[in-house]
Amino acid sequence: MATREFKAESKRLLDMMIHSIYTHREIFLRELISNASDAIDKLYYQALTEDISGLSRDDFFIRITPDKDARTLTISDNGVGMNEEELEENLGTIAQSGSLAFKKENDQNEEIDIIGQFGVGFYSAFMVSDKVTVITKPYGSEKAWRWESSGAEGYTIEEAEKASHGTDIILTIKPSTEDENYDEFLEPYRLRELVKKYSDYIRYPIKMQVEHSHLKEGTGTEDKPAEYETVLEDETLNSMVPIWKKNRSELKPEDYNQFYKEKFFDFQDPLLTIHSSTEGAATYNALLFIPSRPPFDFYTKEFQKGLQLYASGVLIMDKCADLLPDYFSFVRGLVDSQDLSLNISREMLQHDRQLKLIADRLTKKIKSELKSMLEKDREKYETFYKSFGLTLKYGVYSDYGAHKDTLQDLLLFYSSSEKKLVTLAEYKERMKEDQKYIYYACGDTVEKIDRLPQTELLKDHGYEILYLTDDVDEFALKMMRDFDGKEFRSAADKDLGIEETAETEESKARAEESKELLRFMKDALEGKVKDVRLSTRLKSHPVCLSADGGISLEMEKVLNTMPGDQKVQAERVLELNADHPVFAKLKELFASNPDKVKSYAGLLYNQALLIEGLPIEDPVAFSTAVCDLMAE
Ligand code: ADP
Repeated sequence: MATREFKAESKRLLDMMIHSIYTHREIFLRELISNASDAIDKLYYQALTEDISGLSRDDFFIRITPDKDARTLTISDNGVGMNEEELEENLGTIAQSGSLAFKKENDQNEEIDIIGQFGVGFYSAFMVSDKVTVITKPYGSEKAWRWESSGAEGYTIEEAEKASHGTDIILTIKPSTEDENYDEFLEPYRLRELVKKYSDYIRYPIKMQVEHSHLKEGTGTEDKPAEYETVLEDETLNSMVPIWKKNRSELKPEDYNQFYKEKFFDFQDPLLTIHSSTEGAATYNALLFIPSRPPFDFYTKEFQKGLQLYASGVLIMDKCADLLPDYFSFVRGLVDSQDLSLNISREMLQHDRQLKLIADRLTKKIKSELKSMLEKDREKYETFYKSFGLTLKYGVYSDYGAHKDTLQDLLLFYSSSEKKLVTLAEYKERMKEDQKYIYYACGDTVEKIDRLPQTELLKDHGYEILYLTDDVDEFALKMMRDFDGKEFRSAADKDLGIEETAETEESKARAEESKELLRFMKDALEGKVKDVRLSTRLKSHPVCLSADGGISLEMEKVLNTMPGDQKVQAERVLELNADHPVFAKLKELFASNPDKVKSYAGLLYNQALLIEGLPIEDPVAFSTAVCDLMAE
């Protein structure tokens, strides 16, 4: 029989397992039991939906059999089993398990930790075994198969005999050495302990033959002293109550954390756990988690949102997307409801009233839990926000702002005056009596925004400004329009709602006076700007750019990074500071040397672009113009 080679990636993981020095190698049992439970889930679900008779829930079990003499530990299940192709596919490669993709994303040094805390599945068996044998028979098939491997050299698959459907995983346990004790994995008391610790919630009985001492029949009477005999009896090691059906008071944070990490393949504790049960219009148990940080694929197209969906304790869907709105796509977890039919198809599920009701309740619950975290534990909320705030902001923007009311209280932005993240409500609370708008300014970083000339006037008034650094920010605010009756206003807007920016007789007169010069400069810029104006917002800088109309310069930048040929242009306005010496110079030159004004218009425009973080059209020409000026 030819030995088949493991796929390259599997080989690497296998190597890690075999040479693992990880002290928590005991988790191999949890992994194999979880696989067995999944295999039973699959068959049970099939039985219910395809109406297979003769399979009852009570018939399913997992069995653990230690054999000290043979040094084997067998984990058996009567689940779906695997055919030859599935054996090859599932145990010859770990592509499906996600652990390798995760490992790639992370520092190599973390390897050891990942083995212990991250679900590594079947391969973990090699941490304790010299040889692993799998004997399996698919449900409804005549043929059984044996898969065997002693590690990295590869594995063999051949036909085998097996009485009934399901899978036996037979581990040949490594010999103990002076430093390493493997014998413990053959001890019933230790195995019982491990099942209790890691697999108590598994919903099928995990059985083991255990020696029990019994009073011998006919003894222990008046004439005969008590005699005892040892008999082997089946013991069910787990309580079988899934964690989400347990009472909250019975559970410790560690129980939830353990469950989360194992079930959702994370190696960090969740940031927040929500355990809720509801009766009435919708009856369900839900156990939801917010991860401490985004999963490695969270911000990729591959990421799929969704919660596990159980109908009366039977897993019917692994990722039910309809249970979560996109703006809470980071939530992991499960819902178990008795109101759903097992036979329901994916398409029908989408229109299921009950499911909609559950989804609405869960959304409200998640919102209120986040709100309460924001109020009670700001530091933790900020950790959350750093990971997932972007998702909330996209949520505000999407669906034409339909989720504004749900999400607006959960947003944080950096504040110019507080020098930290603040909520919109906090901003509003601090607004000055005469302040009309909630001001914001956009840029790449907080530091860069803080230096923008456009913010000078607002700062002079002592108004707080929200600094927006994410692409989506301004779009989100524009979609919201206002918060609690106060409109948002960009620091670059023409009208900032303050005295200086209002049109007065004086400002009109000034503009009138410089009309010729401003028009001349506009023409000199040959269509690059919609207008050249006297600024009302500039204090110490000579020049800045602003935009008329609905599209700001920031939005222009963002929109133009998106795929598509259509380029968007904000209606650019070049603003000049009439109190700046440069302006006096322009006026002077306009009378004596208009050509100079032409070239200065270009210089000033380019300067404004640079301040804004926008590319200048011809850097070489700009540099030459500056040099000419220096050499004058
Ligand atoms: P994961 O469970 O993360 O997918 P594993 O390496 O643990 O990765 O298992 C790989 C695949 O092998 C499983 O997805 C499953 O299809 C199959 N498998 C493992 N154990 C069993 C079993 N006891 N019965 C049936 N199929 C199994």
